[in-house]
Amino acid sequence: MTLTRAERTTGVLERRLFGPGPSNPYPEATEALARPLLGHLDPAFLEIMDRACEGLRQVWGTANRRTLPLSATGSAGMEAAFVNTVAEGDVVVVAVNGLFGERMCDVAARCGAEVVRVDFPYGQPVDPQRVAEAHPAPKVIAAVHAETSTGVRSDIAALGELKGDALLLVDAVTSIGGSELRADDWGVDIGYAGTQKCLGVAPGLAPFTISDEAFDRRVPHPRSWYLDLGMLGGYVGEAQGRARTYHHTAPTAMIASLDAALERILDEGLEAVRDRHRRAGETLQAGLQEMGLELFAAEGARLPQLTTVKVPEGVDSARVRAHLLEHFSLEIGAGVKEHASSVWRIGLMGPNATEESAAFVLDALGRAIREA
Ligand SMILES: *Cc1c(COP(=O)(O)O)cnc(C)c1O
Repeated sequence: MTLTRAERTTGVLERRLFGPGPSNPYPEATEALARPLLGHLDPAFLEIMDRACEGLRQVWGTANRRTLPLSATGSAGMEAAFVNTVAEGDVVVVAVNGLFGERMCDVAARCGAEVVRVDFPYGQPVDPQRVAEAHPAPKVIAAVHAETSTGVRSDIAALGELKGDALLLVDAVTSIGGSELRADDWGVDIGYAGTQKCLGVAPGLAPFTISDEAFDRRVPHPRSWYLDLGMLGGYVGEAQGRARTYHHTAPTAMIASLDAALERILDEGLEAVRDRHRRAGETLQAGLQEMGLELFAAEGARLPQLTTVKVPEGVDSARVRAHLLEHFSLEIGAGVKEHASSVWRIGLMGPNATEESAAFVLDALGRAIREA
């Protein structure tokens, strides 16, 4: 393996993480990890926690008091969302247009749900009308806002308008901090996300939000002790400052890191950050098409932060990715399932969402394709 000069002198291997996640953290988030550790009930830490929860409300676009970072990655957010709202026999409609929608079906089924699955082709957004008409009275309608497996954005606002009495449960792991997200305006009742994509923090937390109504309709004694929102509420969300009681040891360093990233994002401005993601993605997608490559996701529903592009005929997908890693220290992702070797996934998230990054990938990918 060839190391850059900086890597040889510092012994640190630095990758450009331009895959579907994790992405490189904001420098502010990395610096915060190195600060002296605080206890999880220290008033100084609780101030950081309160501020991080407030920052999360802003990126979620919600006033929900129960908005908090769960102590595990985005997948635990998915698990928490279902285990707290779905009891044996409840009907759950799941819109499936990629890997994460499929996982939702699995998680809901494990909670005992009667799962009504509504499938859409990979690469296409979900059709809100078809989802809403799939069952007359579901308890929950679940959908993925930004399908990282295919690079597609779906219309959550339209689903919110059609949800009726159902609770709308949304995966915003890849949209949070990168795309417009207005949980309250769109009628999102339960939302989960992750820190490792556009929020620009290492993997390890799941920003979570739940409305008062959804909290009142939750499963009172869920099968999961760790992710029981009723118990967590005593520590975060409901309680403020000193009133908190111990449930589990909050990962204080990670929360300080999240707080620093949120401060960074809000200082730049939510609109400006989203605009930066949009411009980076558009530059990348235009450049790929100029190189003669074909995009995978349907036009009009393409995520700027996660681009899916078809591997050209006769090119070995894995060899190109290995070349990028070895010669450019650049990581991009493969496709999922039957698209594993026919699609690449390129993420420009968090600090990587710049036009310079887009230009860098275009150049490196062009060279790697020629080499391979
Ligand atoms: C990454 C991702 C997840 C899972 O998050 P982890 O941090 O890997 O647990 C869930 N949903 C979507 C849409 C994702 O992109």
